[in-house]
Amino acid sequence: MADKTDIKRTYKWIKNDYMKKKTEALKTAAQDQALATRRRKVRMEKQSGTSLCRMCNERDETTFHILSECSKIAQSEYKKRRRRRHGKLAQLVQWNLCKRYGLQHERNWYDHTAEKVLENEKVKIIWDFSAQTDHVIQARRPDIVVKDKEMNHTWIIDITMPGDARTEEKEREKIEKYQDLAREISRLWMTSTTVAPVIFGAPGAGGRREEFSKMLEADEKEVDRARFPALLGSARILRKVLDIPG
Ligand SMILES: [Zn+2]
Repeated sequence: MADKTDIKRTYKWIKNDYMKKKTEALKTAAQDQALATRRRKVRMEKQSGTSLCRMCNERDETTFHILSECSKIAQSEYKKRRRRRHGKLAQLVQWNLCKRYGLQHERNWYDHTAEKVLENEKVKIIWDFSAQTDHVIQARRPDIVVKDKEMNHTWIIDITMPGDARTEEKEREKIEKYQDLAREISRLWMTSTTVAPVIFGAPGAGGRREEFSKMLEADEKEVDRARFPALLGSARILRKVLDIPG
């Protein structure tokens, strides 16, 4: 009989392999091209009929629409998905920053307990930052704010997982959205400040934003693992709407 360690190791291997295949399948499924959305049927396959969403009849039926903006899909579904995604992301990002700045951290990122505030002599990291300011600022809840004390520079970070819908289009929007907050932080904390939408695991856009992206270098496997719960959520919604057997 194999000893416990062997069993554990084998189980872990099977689990990893299973996770990998399942994640791949879900990633593929989440791409417009692979799914029988109405828009695809009409535009690509030249079938007759409407490209409007079968649930709401308001917008073109695309994966993006179904996963993020359909008025007929319960907001609670979207919220659940966002919460799961956000929780994993917090663990992975914070763990990476802890390593980078010499804060105490576990061996594996998924054992990290996400904290609201992390600080030492080099850095201050605030998760789900909520600005307390004298002025009214519209956009004031970025994912994370990181002040590098040695550089005297602060990053306002909004994170996107690779493959999240319409990443590039949102980027400019995000930068604009946080400008007021950036000015306020510069004034109150007396630092320079950069608004940096970061696509996790992907190269940044150069300059200060690139610097931050580099801190978050995580290998693809880890990013996949962090995305897994959100992908499961996406797949569930897509299967329901598009009538795909699980
Ligand atoms: Zn719809």
